[in-house]
Amino acid sequence: MLSLSLAMVGLILIGFLSLYKRWLTLAGALGMIIMGIAIVYAFHIAGLIAIFLFFISSNLLTSVIRRNQRTTKPSPEQRNLVQVLANGGWPLLAALGQILLPSPFWLGFYIVSITEATADTWASEVGSTLGKAPFHLRLWRRVPKGLSGAMTGIGSLAGMLGSLIIALDSLTLIPHDSFKNTLITICTIALLGWIGQFVDTLLGAYGQARYHCTVCDCFTDKSHHCDKPAHHVGGLRWMTNNAVNGLSSLFAGALGGSIFLFWIN
Ligand SMILES: [Zn+2]
Repeated sequence: MLSLSLAMVGLILIGFLSLYKRWLTLAGALGMIIMGIAIVYAFHIAGLIAIFLFFISSNLLTSVIRRNQRTTKPSPEQRNLVQVLANGGWPLLAALGQILLPSPFWLGFYIVSITEATADTWASEVGSTLGKAPFHLRLWRRVPKGLSGAMTGIGSLAGMLGSLIIALDSLTLIPHDSFKNTLITICTIALLGWIGQFVDTLLGAYGQARYHCTVCDCFTDKSHHCDKPAHHVGGLRWMTNNAVNGLSSLFAGALGGSIFLFWIN
């Protein structure tokens, strides 16, 4: 109970910091605090550290890259409740699942969905800023930056690094008795996260809604461009960038959970 109380105090402090730094809106900060309490209850402080590694590393990466590059991109927007749930919804489901129906499945689901989200954020932030023209998986050629479904070498490398950081942290959550088991654990988690991130790119290439803007004659993922509605030219209308992120995290989580069912007993 002491750790739960300490975690609650910590979460409220981080909530205030996120508001002060304009990382989160009020509803986003409240959602984060409730999510954090459920996570500590299910997966203890070690579990909470995993999701904070994701949130903090992603925010720091975004801030540092955009400051150094002086890109024309706006600074990272304040995340609202929907965006907090878009990234934290599956981990929250895993925490609730663990509380109501304890099973190793939820631990695997939790860790791997966070690993995937970290890999994806790192890959797209680093790739879109430092990478050259990304390679599109469906068009099978290089395309201008900003189109979903494309990947860069440096972005993939960053995604691998992001995966590795969560995989290292997951050692505090997964039983491992020997050096060999430790290595297997790290490699498995990192690989699952990276596979999930690749599925994210595939979904972005084949399923995500695509639009054409007649004003600037460009293809975009956004339904509005140059202050006007853009024409839908392909992909599923409902499959927005958030839907792609949510589906690939779900895929990665379900894959990780299924493996944990056989792995940890
Ligand atoms: Zn346009």
